[in-house]
Amino acid sequence: MRERLVEAFREGIVVPQGLIAHGRGECFDYLIGEETIGPAVEAIRAAVAALLTARHPVISVNGNTAALAAEHIPRLAEATGALIEVNLFYRTRERAEKIAELLRRHGARRVLGVDDATARIPGLEHPRGMVSPEGIYKADVVLLALEDGDRTEALRRMGKLVIAIDLNPLSRTAQKADITIVDNVVRAMPLLVKTAEEMRKWPREKLLEVLEGYDNRRVLAEVIRYIGERLNRLAESLLHG
Ligand code: ATP
Ligand code: MG
Repeated sequence: MRERLVEAFREGIVVPQGLIAHGRGECFDYLIGEETIGPAVEAIRAAVAALLTARHPVISVNGNTAALAAEHIPRLAEATGALIEVNLFYRTRERAEKIAELLRRHGARRVLGVDDATARIPGLEHPRGMVSPEGIYKADVVLLALEDGDRTEALRRMGKLVIAIDLNPLSRTAQKADITIVDNVVRAMPLLVKTAEEMRKWPREKLLEVLEGYDNRRVLAEVIRYIGERLNRLAESLLHG
């Protein structure tokens, strides 16, 4: 993962701040044991149900997400009928174009957010708040990974259902999203694809049932408890073998 990020940094896809954010993520990955835990599986099922029942779902892609998981994104878009939009915290046209190109190399047919980021999310200043009027601006459901808390909150204020992939269950993004997948994007993305390819055959009522039964506060609490119990077990085994 580090090598991929450093390479992407050299290619101008990842910004230096992205490398720091990755280190923060690695720390939380240690705490969950570097595997997809039960509460993340539950969040992934709810996320897929939300994407499949949305009118206008959009997958938002930034530099780190592209560097780590570009190969899965076109398949997830295909399986859920979602649009793909490049959306950057540190936006430059050049970087957006490079990320779009990478996604197209992996099979994306249409990538929004390069020359069409002309609409602004209320409450966010230019260029941080610029999105495509055909994509995130119009979306009812948005999937984000490694997103900033302010932007997550601004999207929620616009009435969108926000799905976040974020290893830190304590980040503002994790706390504010409607559905938080506490997992590494390298594991969560392929699992989202697999789950979407299964659940797309389900009747709409069954998908809506999954969504209605989902409670993000409970799932986040389970993640935090999981970490706490795991750390206690590790401490016990140090003391008592
Ligand atoms: P917030 O703005 O939400 O309060 P933050 O400022 O710590 O949080 P950002 O830099 O805005 O975080 O977003 C990056 C987030 O992505 C962090 O919470 C980090 O833990 C998480 N993260 C980093 N690498 C990965 C990864 N590979 N997979 C999933 N999440 C990751
Ligand atoms: Mg932040």
